[in-house]
Amino acid sequence: MSAFHALPAWPVPSLPVAGRAERFPVRRIFCIGRNYADHVREMGGDPNRGSPIFFMKPADAIVTDGQPLPYPPATGDLHHEVELVCGLGTDLRPWGFGVGLDMTRRDLQAKAKAAAAPWEIAKAFEGSAIVGPLLPAAEWSGPTTQVLSLTVNGQVRQSSPLDHMIWSLEEILGELGKLFTLKPGDLIFTGTPAGVADVQRGDKLEARVEGLPPLNAVVV
Ligand code: MN
Repeated sequence: MSAFHALPAWPVPSLPVAGRAERFPVRRIFCIGRNYADHVREMGGDPNRGSPIFFMKPADAIVTDGQPLPYPPATGDLHHEVELVCGLGTDLRPWGFGVGLDMTRRDLQAKAKAAAAPWEIAKAFEGSAIVGPLLPAAEWSGPTTQVLSLTVNGQVRQSSPLDHMIWSLEEILGELGKLFTLKPGDLIFTGTPAGVADVQRGDKLEARVEGLPPLNAVVV
């Protein structure tokens, strides 16, 4: 019985940790846009490095490995964006790494861009942050040249070395730190390479980064 909260409090969103029983608690989800030149070009942008573009998702938008992703409402163009994801520890350094999918209602994002409106309805819906198990940072040599990839129904859709990022993870953390007080449990989505495309109900997604636990998701 809690005498403190006016409503029953909900559990802290969390991610599994590879090889451990303990889970990684998720505080906030920060995402960078336009962080691979080939993806910037496919979206019609200029890949010359200006200021980084950041947006956020709520922590309870998390879907973990193996959970179904319900096709969200209000879209006919749900896109995958495979990304390296980093979770911050109590020292505000990378605690662990995993593979993520920044799911995007692309039709709503296009309307938002055209109207110079915010991106939340395109990026921050329930189930929009699919993240695999985290591997503790000490157990991985990246991020350097490891390949990030996504297959849909066994067909390769996206594939790129991680060192093709325009803003490195260190630079992303530095830029975010000018804007926010980063905290333990914050997750960082580090951007997606070219090949973003739509998914349909029944599609099976398998996202990988070399050396990290794979991420599997099915759209239902
Ligand atoms: Mn993204």
